[in-house]
Amino acid sequence: MTASEITSETAPGTPPETATGTAAGTAARPAPADLLVVGGDVVTMAPGREVVTGAAIAVAAGRVAGIGTAEELRERFPGTPELDARDCVVIPGMINAHQHTTADPLVRSMIPDDISSDEAIFSWIVPLHDQVTGDDDELSATLTAAESLLRGVTTILEPGTVAHPLRVAAGLASAGIRARVGRWGWDVPGVAHALPAAETLALQEETVRALPPSGTVTGWVTLVGHDLASDELFIGAAELAERLDVGLTWHVSPSAADTRAYAERSGTPPVLHFRRLGVLGPRLLLGHAVWLDDAELDAIVETGTSVASCPGAYLRLGQGYGRAGRHAELVRRGGRLALGGDSHNAGDVPDVLGTARLLAALERDRDEAPVLRADQVFALATIGGAEAAGLGHLVGSIEVGKAADLVVLDTRDLSWTPRGDLATHLVWGAPTHTVRDVLVDGRIVVRDRRLTTVDTGALRREAAERSAALLRRAGLDVPHRWPAIPAAEYSRRPSDRPGPSPNPRIP
Ligand SMILES: [Zn+2]
Repeated sequence: MTASEITSETAPGTPPETATGTAAGTAARPAPADLLVVGGDVVTMAPGREVVTGAAIAVAAGRVAGIGTAEELRERFPGTPELDARDCVVIPGMINAHQHTTADPLVRSMIPDDISSDEAIFSWIVPLHDQVTGDDDELSATLTAAESLLRGVTTILEPGTVAHPLRVAAGLASAGIRARVGRWGWDVPGVAHALPAAETLALQEETVRALPPSGTVTGWVTLVGHDLASDELFIGAAELAERLDVGLTWHVSPSAADTRAYAERSGTPPVLHFRRLGVLGPRLLLGHAVWLDDAELDAIVETGTSVASCPGAYLRLGQGYGRAGRHAELVRRGGRLALGGDSHNAGDVPDVLGTARLLAALERDRDEAPVLRADQVFALATIGGAEAAGLGHLVGSIEVGKAADLVVLDTRDLSWTPRGDLATHLVWGAPTHTVRDVLVDGRIVVRDRRLTTVDTGALRREAAERSAALLRRAGLDVPHRWPAIPAAEYSRRPSDRPGPSPNPRIP
């Protein structure tokens, strides 16, 4: 194929010396690009879903500057450094459209898995959020971003953090991930830390304005949602997002609780209540929207409202996705769906490919046809998710002019042997652990499975210290299912049995 060419129209960020200038009929002086990724099979996720085999990708000024053969691109961009991607599959960086990055990452796998989601929130998350410091928030955001990048996730949408949004933004930026960050707000009287709608919105605006729109980490408007916002706040948030030209998100109906709450509040299901307020639309990304009736699903499709699906959380918290979830139906009807990891004790792993597999499996298990196929859920992890998040012009596919957010998977791993249909293998073959290199905005942030941006040893030590201190301040004890016994003590224990003891029965 012929190497694609940059024009100033398709790549506004491209420096003039790399533009071809064909419109003016003059050949530009050849200049190096920043990087050539050479020899991989490129899963473009472009509208034709082409996989370009044995391809080279030129990266310049953070953008994809060309896709073609190595020879063509070496000629066009002489002297460009190269990243060898032979025996590799190159995919677009994946999009996590709902990932909390504060408090939870410091207590991952510490909230018991047999309590209700309400108890998890009010007995654990609320006391933790009361105690987090700015240093905690920045560190836990860095930790989440670092883990995400190593799993091939290059964009995180933070659906709202409480106390220190700018420290969260700093933490995400330090790891080199692309992100949207907002300050959580609610205004229902009687709920701790609630503020009047006007004050809540002023704080939201302050956060968005503090993050430059040209950066990789920018702001958006984030309410908690559920039934923790007045009509005034919902309407004000939608107007604010419109005025600032940013996205907007809130939570609704991961379980049936919101449906019950809105029956009392307005006599209509929550999504129809939102439609009545005039706040649905392409700018709004609803977190969850699992429990929907027919009219709510219609309203979401008709208004172009997006949904972030976090199946790992629904299963972990027992919220009933298998009984009520209609996300596949939303996709089949042309609705806009993205994938999310939710949090480190609900969904637990910020792994978008794993989330795609989980959603495909849940939908496969329904006794219904058609199913949500691997190629379709992989699209949700990439271009579909990007479009649902309002970022389709920038990320989600590998195309000339788009941001160079690329993930290189090493197919020499045995999990790729033998290689099957690429879409099927990417989703069902679970190759996340074969992520070798990651670029965000043209910058190499993972190389040979190691982060180039973060000292992971220091991160690990600081996370352990901050976790212990945070739990102490919040007055929380982590229950352990198994007794931990120091080896010296264990070996001194009297034993009257020569062999292993019989196993206890599960109570
Ligand atoms: Zn959430």
